[in-house]
Amino acid sequence: MFRKIKTNKIDFIIVFFFIYIVLNILLIFNFDWLASIFIKDLGNLNQVKKFKNIGYILFSALFFFIFTYQALKIQSYSKISGLPNKRAFKRVLKEEINSAEKAGLKLALYFVNLDNFKSINDAYGYIYGDRLLGKVGMTLKEIFKENYKVFHISADEYVVLKNNVEFISEVVWTAESLKNLFNKFWQAGDNWHFLNATTGIVVYPDDGQKPDVLIRKVHTATHFAKTRKKGSYELYQNSMNEEMEENKRIEAQIKVALEKKQFLIFYQPQIDICDNSIIGAEALIRWPNGKGGFTPPSKFIPIAEMSGLINPIGDFVFESVCMTIKEWLDSGIKPVRISVNLSPRQFRDGDLLEDIKEVLKKTNISSQWLALEITEGALMEDTDCSITLLDNLKKMGIKVYLDDFGTGYSSLYYLKRFPIDVLKIDKSFIQGINTDPREDAIVKTIIALGHDLGIKVEAEGVENEEQLKYLKDNGCDYVQGFLISKPLPKEKFEKLLF
Ligand code: C2E
Ligand code: CA
Ligand code: CA
Repeated sequence: MFRKIKTNKIDFIIVFFFIYIVLNILLIFNFDWLASIFIKDLGNLNQVKKFKNIGYILFSALFFFIFTYQALKIQSYSKISGLPNKRAFKRVLKEEINSAEKAGLKLALYFVNLDNFKSINDAYGYIYGDRLLGKVGMTLKEIFKENYKVFHISADEYVVLKNNVEFISEVVWTAESLKNLFNKFWQAGDNWHFLNATTGIVVYPDDGQKPDVLIRKVHTATHFAKTRKKGSYELYQNSMNEEMEENKRIEAQIKVALEKKQFLIFYQPQIDICDNSIIGAEALIRWPNGKGGFTPPSKFIPIAEMSGLINPIGDFVFESVCMTIKEWLDSGIKPVRISVNLSPRQFRDGDLLEDIKEVLKKTNISSQWLALEITEGALMEDTDCSITLLDNLKKMGIKVYLDDFGTGYSSLYYLKRFPIDVLKIDKSFIQGINTDPREDAIVKTIIALGHDLGIKVEAEGVENEEQLKYLKDNGCDYVQGFLISKPLPKEKFEKLLF
């Protein structure tokens, strides 16, 4: 259950104000009784007047002192978690820098940003969301005690300050502890939510000596980490600024490429391991770099994801694939099922189902020719919504492939609940086959697991005969990789369909 967060300072002020009013009323209406406690001769009007004035002054001064003190204190605490807030953080950071300077020690500042918390607020409302945010804050406070200070900066942002740091290894140790705290399910009432957090880190005095400089740099590190991989952490480096500039340039170029329709789609065959027949192909985006090569998707897809440009890119890929299938059908080529990669943001933003329906209607093709490849990370962002969405895709006849399986959370509980058609074992495991017995065991286990759950299993990144044999011996259903074929331009791929 949610724990009650102590935000009773406002109540305290109300009670105090009430006492103040009662005492004043007493002073006015029952003055004689009150005055008789302090003054022996109530007939001495001079003394009575003096007592009355002193009484008012004392009461008022005390009231305003306590009121101002408490009001300032409230301004320094988050109403959501009861933790010190941004205002307090700025003050404490200055103090901690001074202490660290005197002690000749380092200070580490962790800026913890919850990923996609908006989806919880949208689904359950702000009051519920605030309670969960409060729970996160209190948990951070409980875990990071000695040598740490925890602040709740804004709704889904927290800062952890670690003092008395001697070595950078200590900084990394805390970053790992933070990472382990997230990337998993948190209970809220009767619900469980998958919470991920990305953390930027700066170290005083290495990265800067002034609070403003450290704050600016920690934001850069956090933004950088988010672009690289959500749920990760990054220590600030000077090269980050250059890389961010480069990212901005790429972002502008993506916009131009979209306008000028410069992106291409390549198709990589997926085959049935038993009879080598082509059962489908994965659509992979290609961006010609003007020098005869291509800018790798790994370089521009994360930037597109961060900037939101992944949505128009995704629309382009999906529409192109549907148009190609239509072309094949019109020219008498029997298509195969084409799987389209969906990035987490496409899965989260907008109305995916409506967009898909619209394109299918526009191109007049059947959904039987389509599959979507989704990573576990995308599904975990909002598990309830994901299940509904996947159910609807299934009803529409679109198959769902779980991409890069084994690299993410591999939650068995959710694997059972998500209506998935094909599990794609990540290529990093396939490449370990016959080189590392542990990788062999993982591959074997994933195949058995998939089959136990009634899900087909596909291996991606198959590069040699030994890997293929191992997969065949262990009952893998489908394979994809350079051994079978590299991703091919449309014209080359369609020759394989005759
Ligand atoms: P992915 O979805 O895991 O795609 C498979 C990647 O493995 C592709 O890289 C493919 O070219 C590569 N690959 C295939 N067979 C082999 C092999 O035998 N050995 C090795 N070493 N690699 C192989 P690619 O095309 O560079 O794409 C990288 C990633 O970019 C994809 O990983 C996917 O996450 C993303 N991506 C590609 N196209 C799209 C797209 O249209 N939309 C979205 N949202 N993401 C895309
Ligand atoms: Ca894929
Ligand atoms: Ca993959």
